[in-house]
Amino acid sequence: MVGLSIKFALECRSQLGCAKLELSKGAGAFPGTPGCRLRICQPSQTKESECAIMLKNLLKPLVIVLLALEACVVATTVNVQAISRTPTPTWGHWQSVTITYRCNSTSAYYRSVWSQAIKQWNRTGAVKLRAVKAGHKADIVLTSAQTIRQSDAVAGYTNYTYYHKAQGNRIVAAKSILDRGILTHYGYTKSQRANVAAHELGHALGLGHSKAKNSVMNASNRYAMVSPQDKLAVQGAYAHRR
Ligand SMILES: [Zn+2]
Repeated sequence: MVGLSIKFALECRSQLGCAKLELSKGAGAFPGTPGCRLRICQPSQTKESECAIMLKNLLKPLVIVLLALEACVVATTVNVQAISRTPTPTWGHWQSVTITYRCNSTSAYYRSVWSQAIKQWNRTGAVKLRAVKAGHKADIVLTSAQTIRQSDAVAGYTNYTYYHKAQGNRIVAAKSILDRGILTHYGYTKSQRANVAAHELGHALGLGHSKAKNSVMNASNRYAMVSPQDKLAVQGAYAHRR
């Protein structure tokens, strides 16, 4: 599409913090940085080597994408500190407040986990997440898997595609995945798994990481549900799209 560049991003949440990979294609996608960039964030520099291992494993399936984009990679680290009442950042939005989803998990337990996460966001009143009708394509695909080794310690991750626009990035596709093995290994309760699911769904809705420990969008949190600041963020991102 003329005048638009397409970005692909993958974001993960883990015991160790969070890794974010952003790839862009098209001049100006990232001002001053044509091509692509890689950004790693983590709550503690003491976990750097483990985070590097996690990221390395995350990158494996994306090698082909990297090659296709003739990518260059730049890594930086960012410390995350807890600050209460900190606004939750947003990076994009869907075209409409009504967003469809399909849960592909074959596990009734994980369908229930995703259902709890969906309710958290629907309760904000800012978006309307609706299960897709049979035979229709969903905006967001939700699933669970056990494909990542425990050494990676990745509890969940989300990949998404969006058009870069000055007035706000427009999301066009997203897929969020929970890792059953990691969640079980680290003893997450069902409500904590729902919080991880809500975190990933928050990314799929256009929210970024919050520094606030009481935000569901904190990169290393598993205890918080959608907070008042998270609600304000999603309300702001979708305020003019009713
Ligand atoms: Zn995250």
